[in-house]
Amino acid sequence: MEPDEKEVGRPAATPHRTQPDHYNTSFADASRAAQGQWQWILNSMGIHLPTENRHAPCPGCGGKDRFRWELNDDGGIFWICSQGDGDTIHGDGFDLVQHCLNVSARDSLDLVTRALGMDNGTNVVLHPRHPKAAKRVTVNPARVSAACHHVWNEAKPADGHPYLELKKLDPLGLRRSSRWFRKDPNPAIAKPRPLNGDWLLIQRLEMHGLGLQVVNLQAISSDGRIKLPFPYSTTKGQFGFAGLGMPCDKHPRRGKKNLVCITEGFATGASLVMAGICEPAVIAFTASNLPSVGVLVRRAYPDARIVFAADHDEAGLKFAHQAAAESGGRVIAPDVEGEDWSDVYLRGGEMFCE
Ligand SMILES: [Zn+2]
Repeated sequence: MEPDEKEVGRPAATPHRTQPDHYNTSFADASRAAQGQWQWILNSMGIHLPTENRHAPCPGCGGKDRFRWELNDDGGIFWICSQGDGDTIHGDGFDLVQHCLNVSARDSLDLVTRALGMDNGTNVVLHPRHPKAAKRVTVNPARVSAACHHVWNEAKPADGHPYLELKKLDPLGLRRSSRWFRKDPNPAIAKPRPLNGDWLLIQRLEMHGLGLQVVNLQAISSDGRIKLPFPYSTTKGQFGFAGLGMPCDKHPRRGKKNLVCITEGFATGASLVMAGICEPAVIAFTASNLPSVGVLVRRAYPDARIVFAADHDEAGLKFAHQAAAESGGRVIAPDVEGEDWSDVYLRGGEMFCE
């Protein structure tokens, strides 16, 4: 693991949490004490982890396959949950306690230290979980757009980025940056914090009148585990392109005219372009955004044949079918449950042909 990825793998940023005065134990102390013991610590709170590294129902918000976790090198855990609508959250053990029990960061520390027998002498009040109960904080879209333009202009061409190599993709006009942003660990503060890494950047666009505007970026970590738009911004109605104006020499276009493929993620769309199915592919970034993007594409191309090249998972299929119904397209998903079109492309499987 490279040092910068470690930072990415531990986005909860334990050291940044504010330490209340009356606490005997710090997040750092509790993290150390909890090393390698997270499974029973969580079990003792009624949070039962599924098999490591397998998609499964989330112990916090349910579903069918929206959750996955793994052990870090340092004995902590890293987990990721798409919350059923593709609005992905992730974090460490403390964050999982917060997600599952709907408690504050402070209370998660208290619960963990008590499970470890390191009594902090405080009482935690548990509230029944209400998904997405947290108030959404947003920042001015003009500020988001300005910050993203700045990062994009300073970024370098993405050639050789590890995620592109992992997914066997050409750069397709993307860029890479060592600089990106994440939310402040304190949800009351709408102030993005810098996040070091080797980020692959994709432009996120909106329709404004008859033209397109770059309003945001999406950053993908070098191992593809983390996908972050600019913090405190919205996704709905935003989309991107894979392979726009970037004909791929190795795989000359054999896609049919008038076909528009819409995918959830960049790698999936780019795989379709690489395989010559379509050019470009339209990226919706999250499953729940597929219907909005489908409607936009239908408005721009009334006669197009629209295909939602869906991921074969719970949220992917649900929203792709909803999108197809609303925009008059059709859904094509890989046969194997849990796969997306990038997986099919990587194992040399047959891509669909419209
Ligand atoms: Zn969840």
